[in-house]
Amino acid sequence: MSEEQTCLTATTNVQEKLKNAAELMREATKIVALTGAGISTESGIPDFRSPGSIWLAEPPVSYQDFISKPEAREQYWRSRRNLSALVAAARPNDAHRALVALERRQKLLGVITQNFDGLHQDAGHAPENVIELHGTAREAACTLCGARSSIADLQQRIYAGEIDPRCELCGGFLKSATILFGQRLPVDVLARAKELTEQCDLFLVVGSSLKVNPAAMLPRKALHNDIPLIIVNIQPTPLDAYADVVIQEKVGDVLPALVALL
Ligand code: ZN
Repeated sequence: MSEEQTCLTATTNVQEKLKNAAELMREATKIVALTGAGISTESGIPDFRSPGSIWLAEPPVSYQDFISKPEAREQYWRSRRNLSALVAAARPNDAHRALVALERRQKLLGVITQNFDGLHQDAGHAPENVIELHGTAREAACTLCGARSSIADLQQRIYAGEIDPRCELCGGFLKSATILFGQRLPVDVLARAKELTEQCDLFLVVGSSLKVNPAAMLPRKALHNDIPLIIVNIQPTPLDAYADVVIQEKVGDVLPALVALL
């Protein structure tokens, strides 16, 4: 087969998959989308588990280390400088906007995200429809009393030379309101994610490799309930064999194409 023919076959294959996915979405009125790093990388935020990631030079600080070691907290704030700038500069992309289009057409029950960059909210979702499994980088939180405060103010303190910032209310350690490795997810957030998954009539995975729990168990729950599953991710996932449609292309290309077909 010539190179041209191979390319055409590949394109036809994708068109076919888009058509099949759009058909499922057309029938659905309660879609739940689970989004992962793959949607944010297209907005310039690196996937911190991928090769070449800024995180690999220095492994991410675990929650246990953050709580017990001053040097881990120092490393945490040092490594965040880079990430904070990237998150602040990032803007929603076509995939984020396509999910908002689904919401406006009253086909979307909610977005459950593994990302903490706030780009879904920036794209225009009703805030209550975005479930942030791993917290948000847009606020600071006390590790002891849980009080939320301004991340911008906290960063100012760090930049001004404060090494180990503490909560003014209780003296607990402060960090961004994101979930660190080894840190338990808030019970109410996880419960809401499970509830949405129970209620949905189509589960759409967008840019998640489905390797991190508890996010990865949500599509499994949907499958268990006989709910159609569509996976859009540039790389294979462990659930590809069980999904109704798998599209291995950029989410920023696929999602608007799907919305256009509805
Ligand atoms: Zn506190």
